[in-house]
Amino acid sequence: MNPDKALVVFSGGQDSTTCLFWAKKHFKEVYALTFLYGQKHVKEVDLAREIARKADVHFEVMDVSFIAGLCKNSLTDTSIRMDEVKPEGSFPNTFVPGRNMFFLSIAAVYAREHGIFHLVTGVSQTDFSGYPDCRDSFIKSLNVTLNLAMDEQFDIHTPLMWIDKAQTWALADELGVLDLVRNETLTCYNGIPGDGCGHCPACTLRRTGLEKYLSMKNNK
Ligand code: ZN
Repeated sequence: MNPDKALVVFSGGQDSTTCLFWAKKHFKEVYALTFLYGQKHVKEVDLAREIARKADVHFEVMDVSFIAGLCKNSLTDTSIRMDEVKPEGSFPNTFVPGRNMFFLSIAAVYAREHGIFHLVTGVSQTDFSGYPDCRDSFIKSLNVTLNLAMDEQFDIHTPLMWIDKAQTWALADELGVLDLVRNETLTCYNGIPGDGCGHCPACTLRRTGLEKYLSMKNNK
Protein backbone atom coordinates (compact mmCIF):
# COMPACT_ATOMS: atom_id res chain seq x y z
CA MET A 1 0.00 0.00 0.00
CA ASN A 2 1.18 3.48 -0.86
CA PRO A 3 1.90 5.41 2.37
CA ASP A 4 0.57 8.60 0.79
CA LYS A 5 -2.85 10.18 0.81
CA ALA A 6 -5.23 10.17 -2.14
CA LEU A 7 -8.21 12.30 -3.04
CA VAL A 8 -11.10 10.80 -5.01
CA VAL A 9 -13.41 12.97 -7.10
CA PHE A 10 -16.55 11.37 -5.76
CA SER A 11 -20.16 11.61 -6.95
CA GLY A 12 -21.64 8.59 -5.21
CA GLY A 13 -22.19 6.85 -8.56
CA GLN A 14 -21.02 3.36 -9.56
CA ASP A 15 -17.73 4.47 -11.07
CA SER A 16 -16.48 6.88 -8.43
CA THR A 17 -17.62 4.58 -5.60
CA THR A 18 -15.60 1.74 -7.13
CA CYS A 19 -12.68 4.18 -7.37
CA LEU A 20 -13.14 5.15 -3.72
CA PHE A 21 -12.68 1.55 -2.60
CA TRP A 22 -9.84 1.09 -5.09
CA ALA A 23 -8.13 4.10 -3.46
CA LYS A 24 -8.74 2.66 0.01
CA LYS A 25 -6.94 -0.49 -1.06
CA HIS A 26 -3.96 1.37 -2.49
CA PHE A 27 -3.49 4.41 -0.25
CA LYS A 28 -3.08 4.94 3.45
CA GLU A 29 -5.53 7.79 3.80
CA VAL A 30 -8.40 8.63 1.46
CA TYR A 31 -10.39 11.80 0.95
CA ALA A 32 -13.64 11.97 -1.02
CA LEU A 33 -14.53 15.30 -2.59
CA THR A 34 -18.07 15.77 -3.89
CA PHE A 35 -19.12 18.70 -6.03
CA LEU A 36 -22.42 20.49 -5.82
CA TYR A 37 -22.86 21.89 -9.32
CA GLY A 38 -26.58 22.51 -9.46
CA GLN A 39 -27.47 18.92 -10.31
CA LYS A 40 -31.17 18.13 -10.28
CA HIS A 41 -30.75 15.21 -7.97
CA VAL A 42 -29.35 16.78 -4.83
CA LYS A 43 -29.93 13.52 -2.96
CA GLU A 44 -26.85 12.33 -4.83
CA VAL A 45 -24.90 14.25 -2.22
CA ASP A 46 -26.65 12.56 0.73
CA LEU A 47 -26.00 9.15 -0.80
CA ALA A 48 -22.36 10.09 -1.41
CA ARG A 49 -21.98 11.20 2.22
CA GLU A 50 -23.46 7.92 3.45
CA ILE A 51 -21.13 5.83 1.26
CA ALA A 52 -18.13 7.88 2.44
CA ARG A 53 -19.20 7.26 6.05
CA LYS A 54 -19.38 3.51 5.45
CA ALA A 55 -16.03 3.57 3.67
CA ASP A 56 -14.60 5.49 6.62
CA VAL A 57 -12.95 8.20 4.50
CA HIS A 58 -12.80 11.97 4.86
CA PHE A 59 -15.73 13.59 3.08
CA GLU A 60 -16.08 17.11 1.80
CA VAL A 61 -18.73 18.81 -0.34
CA MET A 62 -17.70 21.76 -2.45
CA ASP A 63 -20.28 24.10 -3.90
CA VAL A 64 -19.40 24.94 -7.50
CA SER A 65 -22.97 25.56 -8.61
CA PHE A 66 -21.90 28.59 -10.66
CA ILE A 67 -21.03 25.95 -13.30
CA ALA A 68 -24.76 25.44 -13.92
CA GLY A 69 -25.03 29.09 -14.93
CA LEU A 70 -22.33 28.78 -17.57
CA CYS A 71 -24.21 26.55 -19.98
CA LYS A 72 -27.57 24.98 -20.67
CA ASN A 73 -27.69 21.25 -19.98
CA SER A 74 -30.18 18.68 -18.83
CA LEU A 75 -28.29 17.61 -15.69
CA THR A 76 -28.88 20.96 -14.02
CA ASP A 77 -31.80 22.55 -15.90
CA THR A 78 -35.18 21.10 -14.95
CA SER A 79 -36.82 22.60 -18.06
CA ILE A 80 -34.70 20.40 -20.36
CA ARG A 81 -35.63 16.78 -20.88
CA MET A 82 -32.66 14.50 -20.75
CA ASP A 83 -31.60 12.87 -24.03
CA GLU A 84 -32.48 9.19 -23.81
CA VAL A 85 -30.48 8.53 -26.93
CA LYS A 86 -27.29 10.29 -27.93
CA PRO A 87 -28.03 12.60 -30.88
CA GLU A 88 -26.11 11.70 -34.03
CA GLY A 89 -22.97 13.78 -34.45
CA SER A 90 -23.35 15.90 -31.33
CA PHE A 91 -23.02 15.71 -27.58
CA PRO A 92 -25.87 14.37 -25.42
CA ASN A 93 -27.57 17.24 -23.57
CA THR A 94 -26.25 15.81 -20.30
CA PHE A 95 -22.90 17.24 -21.38
CA VAL A 96 -21.49 19.97 -19.14
CA PRO A 97 -18.52 21.25 -21.15
CA GLY A 98 -15.25 21.00 -19.26
CA ARG A 99 -16.83 19.53 -16.14
CA ASN A 100 -13.99 17.14 -15.41
CA MET A 101 -11.49 19.88 -16.08
CA PHE A 102 -13.19 22.12 -13.49
CA PHE A 103 -13.58 19.31 -10.97
CA LEU A 104 -10.03 18.00 -11.25
CA SER A 105 -8.50 21.48 -11.19
CA ILE A 106 -10.44 22.44 -8.06
CA ALA A 107 -9.68 19.02 -6.55
CA ALA A 108 -5.96 19.57 -7.14
CA VAL A 109 -5.95 22.92 -5.33
CA TYR A 110 -7.94 21.41 -2.44
CA ALA A 111 -5.64 18.35 -2.37
CA ARG A 112 -2.47 20.45 -2.30
CA GLU A 113 -3.84 22.33 0.72
CA HIS A 114 -4.12 18.96 2.47
CA GLY A 115 -0.72 17.67 1.35
CA ILE A 116 -2.31 15.22 -1.11
CA PHE A 117 -0.75 14.66 -4.52
CA HIS A 118 -2.60 11.56 -5.71
CA LEU A 119 -5.91 12.31 -7.40
CA VAL A 120 -8.32 9.55 -8.41
CA THR A 121 -11.10 9.92 -10.96
CA GLY A 122 -13.55 7.38 -12.40
CA VAL A 123 -13.44 8.63 -15.98
CA SER A 124 -13.36 5.97 -18.69
CA GLN A 125 -12.56 6.10 -22.35
CA THR A 126 -14.08 2.67 -22.95
CA ASP A 127 -17.75 3.48 -22.39
CA PHE A 128 -17.08 6.82 -24.02
CA SER A 129 -20.32 8.78 -23.95
CA GLY A 130 -18.97 11.57 -26.10
CA TYR A 131 -17.45 13.58 -23.27
CA PRO A 132 -13.99 14.67 -24.45
CA ASP A 133 -12.71 15.34 -20.96
CA CYS A 134 -13.10 11.65 -20.05
CA ARG A 135 -10.35 10.70 -22.48
CA ASP A 136 -6.90 9.53 -21.46
CA SER A 137 -5.18 12.19 -23.59
CA PHE A 138 -7.06 14.93 -21.73
CA ILE A 139 -6.23 13.49 -18.30
CA LYS A 140 -2.52 13.21 -19.19
CA SER A 141 -2.53 16.74 -20.54
CA LEU A 142 -4.28 18.13 -17.45
CA ASN A 143 -1.85 16.27 -15.20
CA VAL A 144 1.05 18.10 -16.86
CA THR A 145 -0.83 21.39 -16.68
CA LEU A 146 -1.61 21.03 -12.97
CA ASN A 147 2.03 20.22 -12.23
CA LEU A 148 3.15 23.29 -14.15
CA ALA A 149 0.43 25.49 -12.66
CA MET A 150 1.39 24.73 -9.07
CA ASP A 151 4.96 23.52 -9.47
CA GLU A 152 4.03 20.24 -7.81
CA GLN A 153 4.04 16.58 -8.77
CA PHE A 154 0.44 15.47 -8.93
CA ASP A 155 -0.39 11.98 -10.07
CA ILE A 156 -3.87 11.50 -11.55
CA HIS A 157 -5.04 7.87 -11.30
CA THR A 158 -7.77 6.56 -13.58
CA PRO A 159 -8.42 2.93 -12.58
CA LEU A 160 -11.39 2.66 -14.96
CA MET A 161 -9.89 4.32 -18.04
CA TRP A 162 -9.49 1.18 -20.15
CA ILE A 163 -12.13 -1.12 -18.67
CA ASP A 164 -15.79 -1.46 -19.58
CA LYS A 165 -18.83 -1.53 -17.28
CA ALA A 166 -18.72 -5.32 -16.84
CA GLN A 167 -15.07 -5.09 -15.77
CA THR A 168 -15.95 -2.20 -13.44
CA TRP A 169 -18.46 -4.53 -11.74
CA ALA A 170 -15.75 -7.19 -11.59
CA LEU A 171 -13.43 -4.70 -9.90
CA ALA A 172 -16.11 -3.80 -7.33
CA ASP A 173 -16.58 -7.51 -6.64
CA GLU A 174 -12.83 -8.03 -6.28
CA LEU A 175 -12.76 -5.12 -3.80
CA GLY A 176 -15.59 -6.80 -1.83
CA VAL A 177 -18.16 -4.07 -2.48
CA LEU A 178 -20.34 -5.42 -5.29
CA ASP A 179 -23.52 -5.29 -3.17
CA LEU A 180 -22.74 -1.85 -1.78
CA VAL A 181 -22.12 -0.46 -5.26
CA ARG A 182 -25.20 -2.18 -6.63
CA ASN A 183 -27.60 -1.08 -3.90
CA GLU A 184 -26.35 2.24 -2.63
CA THR A 185 -24.90 4.18 -5.53
CA LEU A 186 -26.79 6.49 -7.83
CA THR A 187 -25.99 6.49 -11.53
CA CYS A 188 -29.50 6.91 -12.97
CA TYR A 189 -30.23 10.16 -14.83
CA ASN A 190 -33.71 10.09 -13.29
CA GLY A 191 -32.32 10.13 -9.77
CA ILE A 192 -33.32 6.62 -8.65
CA PRO A 193 -30.60 4.87 -6.60
CA GLY A 194 -29.52 1.24 -6.93
CA ASP A 195 -30.86 -0.44 -10.08
CA GLY A 196 -32.42 2.92 -11.09
CA CYS A 197 -35.24 3.67 -13.54
CA GLY A 198 -34.01 0.95 -15.88
CA HIS A 199 -34.32 2.84 -19.15
CA CYS A 200 -32.14 5.97 -19.15
CA PRO A 201 -28.74 5.64 -20.89
CA ALA A 202 -26.88 5.42 -17.56
CA CYS A 203 -29.17 2.64 -16.28
CA THR A 204 -28.93 0.74 -19.57
CA LEU A 205 -25.13 0.87 -19.54
CA ARG A 206 -25.00 -0.10 -15.88
CA ARG A 207 -27.46 -3.00 -16.19
CA THR A 208 -25.94 -4.41 -19.38
CA GLY A 209 -22.54 -4.36 -17.68
CA LEU A 210 -23.84 -6.07 -14.56
CA GLU A 211 -25.65 -8.77 -16.55
CA LYS A 212 -22.52 -9.41 -18.61
CA TYR A 213 -20.34 -9.62 -15.50
CA LEU A 214 -22.74 -11.90 -13.58
CA SER A 215 -23.12 -14.28 -16.52
CA MET A 216 -19.33 -14.44 -16.93
CA LYS A 217 -18.96 -15.12 -13.20
CA ASN A 218 -21.63 -17.83 -13.18
CA ASN A 219 -20.12 -19.58 -16.18
CA LYS A 220 -16.69 -19.87 -14.56
ZN1 ZN B 1 -32.15 5.54 -15.01
